[in-house]
Amino acid sequence: MKRSIFRTSLCLATLSLAAATSSAAPGSDTPPPTGEPRVMDPGPPPSDAIVLFDGKNLSQWKCDDGGGPAKWEVKDGVATVNGTGGISTKQGFGDCQLHIEWATPAEVKGEGQGRGNSGVFLSGRYEIQVLDSYNNKTYFNGQAGAIYSQYPPLVNASRKPGEWQVYDVIYHAPRFDGAGKVLKPGIVTVLQNGILIQDHAEILGPTGNPDNPKYEPHPLKQPLALQDHGNPVRYRNIWIREL
Ligand code: MG
Repeated sequence: MKRSIFRTSLCLATLSLAAATSSAAPGSDTPPPTGEPRVMDPGPPPSDAIVLFDGKNLSQWKCDDGGGPAKWEVKDGVATVNGTGGISTKQGFGDCQLHIEWATPAEVKGEGQGRGNSGVFLSGRYEIQVLDSYNNKTYFNGQAGAIYSQYPPLVNASRKPGEWQVYDVIYHAPRFDGAGKVLKPGIVTVLQNGILIQDHAEILGPTGNPDNPKYEPHPLKQPLALQDHGNPVRYRNIWIREL
């Protein structure tokens, strides 16, 4: 009995000593953090975000056709696709958190891929599909929230035509070595209207070539692009945080 008490005491003393000499949380093998998280104003938009469209103008964007000023209509705080071609940010981005609000036309026209089609192109070449996917059948990896032609959304979280919807995106751009070999593929997580629809999806390559999504090396920081697919899709409140 005495020996048992002695052993227990010895064990407790050893544990106490270990806790006292470590700066990690008691009972944890995790190394201690090196810095306190930075204080910021959560907004919206967050105080460290780059606002790409605040409803006033498209001065942060250029037209993909010719590189001049973006010509989408801006009215009442909203930018609307108008057939003048896709637009891209003047600034390039690598790893990022993106917030973007969009709405397909309230008046339903067309079907499948012809209804409320646009798109958010990460690194200018990896499309998160924008589409009216409310009671609108199409191929699964082409509906709203799909990584186009690669991954359907995990669920269809689409609101009705005309209603505002949100994509919140966490994106890690692909990395290439000097010879153009893929060191790390692009990784994307997407929430649509607060619902997880892409969970750490590994991008296979550019989405513009569905049959052969083969990576082509590119610099880390690339423009963010929005698609003009001929449908008057609207956008508002676009901001991005570099990670
Ligand atoms: Mg599209």
